Amino acid sequence: MKYSKEQLVDQLVAIGLEEGDTVLVRAALGRVGKVDGGAATILAALREVVGSKGTLVTLGFTPLTVRWKLKGSPIFNVKSKSNTGSLAKYFLLDEECKRSKHPVNSFLAIGPKAGKILAGHDASSLSYAPMNKLRADDAKMLVFGCVANSPGFTTVHSVQENLGLTKKSWFNGIAGSLYEENGEVYKYIKKDFGGCSAGFSKFYSKYIESEALKVGEIGSAYAIQIRVKTSYDIEYKLISSDRKYFLCDNPSCLACRVSWKNNLLGIPVYIMDRILRVLCIRGKT
Ligand SMILES: [Zn+2]
Repeated sequence: MKYSKEQLVDQLVAIGLEEGDTVLVRAALGRVGKVDGGAATILAALREVVGSKGTLVTLGFTPLTVRWKLKGSPIFNVKSKSNTGSLAKYFLLDEECKRSKHPVNSFLAIGPKAGKILAGHDASSLSYAPMNKLRADDAKMLVFGCVANSPGFTTVHSVQENLGLTKKSWFNGIAGSLYEENGEVYKYIKKDFGGCSAGFSKFYSKYIESEALKVGEIGSAYAIQIRVKTSYDIEYKLISSDRKYFLCDNPSCLACRVSWKNNLLGIPVYIMDRILRVLCIRGKT
């Protein structure tokens, strides 16, 4: 079966998107299935649903390089290829697409509010700063095709950031990117990390209890939608009372066990896991 643009439009409407909406979209387009006109039709369907007064936003993140290898590494500019998947690729192909100037965590946006949402997000900003503008604008978030392997809404990182947690990573200061501005090349060193998102599915039961989470399909891809403000408020309440709430349970997750200064107990767990793994491997040989 091949999905037409009209079918995708119907599914986007069914999951709660409306004309004039501002929507932050994260997606794995390959999970949608076969689409008439290819994956570009998915962005066309999103544009059709929100209309000319609506604004679409996605993440256009670019790779980090460890600071001792920065010399000669790729230089970020507004055209740099994103590593956040093919949706970002199609955004960048759209001639109306605007991009913020953050050298690693740039946001992409198409629509009348793009300039306002992206303004000021540059090398001097915190990585998820545009999320505050999306929350003020009562934007929605749509995630499809990647709920299982990249769970969670980007608001979790915004909560971490606003609570000052992203500055509490041992990884801060060890990596960055070169970037271009007004014809000059500068060095950016990242000083805030949101970390691993594998634990973000822990919030799902709370979203469901709020009755604000909409669930559906885009093509064949499982999809979830919620308002930025609703999920932010839920996550803020949980994380401000337990600052480790978002960590995943995987003992070998370097980011969750070792990177957070507010999770020192994770370090022995990680070391024990490494030791056990070595012993298990040796035990098998
Ligand atoms: Zn983790």
